[in-house]
Amino acid sequence: MKSMKILIYFLLSLCLMSEVAFAVKAKTTTKEAPKKNTPFDVYELKGEQDGSTLLVIGGIHGDEPGGFFAPALLMDLYKVKKGKVIVIPNLNPDSILAFRRGIYKDMNRKFASIKRNDPDFDNVQAIKKIITSEEIDFIINLHDGHGFYREKWENSIFNPKAWGQTYVIDQKTLDNVPFGDLDSIAKQIESKLNQSLHYDFHTFGVRNTETRIKDEEQQNSLTFFAITHLKPALAIETSKNITELPLKTFYQISSIEALMEILGIEFERKFELNLENVAKKINDFGTLVINDNITLELSDIRNIINFTPLLAQKNHFEFTHPLGRTKRTKEGYEVYIGHKRITLLRPDIFPMQCDVKALEIELDGKASQAKFGETLDFQQNFLVKKLDGVRINVIGYSKKGIVSEHDILINKANIDGRYSLDKAKSIFRVEAYQGRNFCGMVNLRATK
Ligand SMILES: [Zn+2]
Repeated sequence: MKSMKILIYFLLSLCLMSEVAFAVKAKTTTKEAPKKNTPFDVYELKGEQDGSTLLVIGGIHGDEPGGFFAPALLMDLYKVKKGKVIVIPNLNPDSILAFRRGIYKDMNRKFASIKRNDPDFDNVQAIKKIITSEEIDFIINLHDGHGFYREKWENSIFNPKAWGQTYVIDQKTLDNVPFGDLDSIAKQIESKLNQSLHYDFHTFGVRNTETRIKDEEQQNSLTFFAITHLKPALAIETSKNITELPLKTFYQISSIEALMEILGIEFERKFELNLENVAKKINDFGTLVINDNITLELSDIRNIINFTPLLAQKNHFEFTHPLGRTKRTKEGYEVYIGHKRITLLRPDIFPMQCDVKALEIELDGKASQAKFGETLDFQQNFLVKKLDGVRINVIGYSKKGIVSEHDILINKANIDGRYSLDKAKSIFRVEAYQGRNFCGMVNLRATK
């Protein structure tokens, strides 16, 4: 998850996509304002050659993880060579965090009309603006739906009313619009996907809701808003009855690939697309940088990190994962990737007015510079060099009468494994303090 990403800092008040920056996503946690959804993030994968532009929208429903992990992987693992893909992995951030369909009610029923004081108002207005912007050629809205769609009724799971494993279109065609042949496009994706199913009963189908004449409720949806503004759109629904998140995500990504091919968008993958690799990527949570002086590797982090040095307020959290977020609770900061609660940071509050930015550490006898936030490997032992006025604390190590643990050769056997950052008991914290101030943390990883 360390690849460079293009992130469009999305500002409602500014012209859309005016500011493009190469950066990992930055997030600052502030007190959640009541009754206003968190703004979503917009990323862009742009090819060197011009071509069609696809808008991928994930996370409109917070309890449909196939719909938000697929775009997260897409923006991390794909390079577009021709055309453009604009990716929104988290249209409804607060509902994703709560793992609920819509904590402010169903966002996908707010596209015909929405009250100004609705907590989703800003997000709905913002996505409408993107949908209707000139460059967008095609829109997909990603979901996980109940059951498995079948043309004929079989039972309560397999039937024509099921949403799972469908490409949902509001009408067959959008006349005189490029890529307006929705039925044929959906059927092409369907037939491609049905050639490589992991289980036969996962068959995809095309479900036409005939929204304009038959489905009044669906007239409030995002895709219907799009097509009434002459923008071709469809919904991709994997099944909620498929419990394995990697498999749902695999189907979503495969569907998006099939669509990109139809749209003439050329791309390269940074991995081989198979279920095993998708599973690996889903469990790669990346890193969290806190206040530029602590880095936590999230994939194997312990469920609770005690005594995390933090500021009393205005802590800065920066995730490499597009679905990374923190949530302030009574106990501290809960760290999330999508709907998954990864760890709890129990704070230890410090001021951070330090002029030290790095430590000198001997790793197995070899001298190294270690900047705060870095992770360095050692095999047997390490020694943190003395720095005037700086107190060193190696978490999990203690020696009677010692205040600062510098200039001591510490063997890995001397550190209590219960204090590691990771579950594998291999990454340890070396912390530096200046007077009352916390300066930063270096992670030392014991390798075999
Ligand atoms: Zn949904």
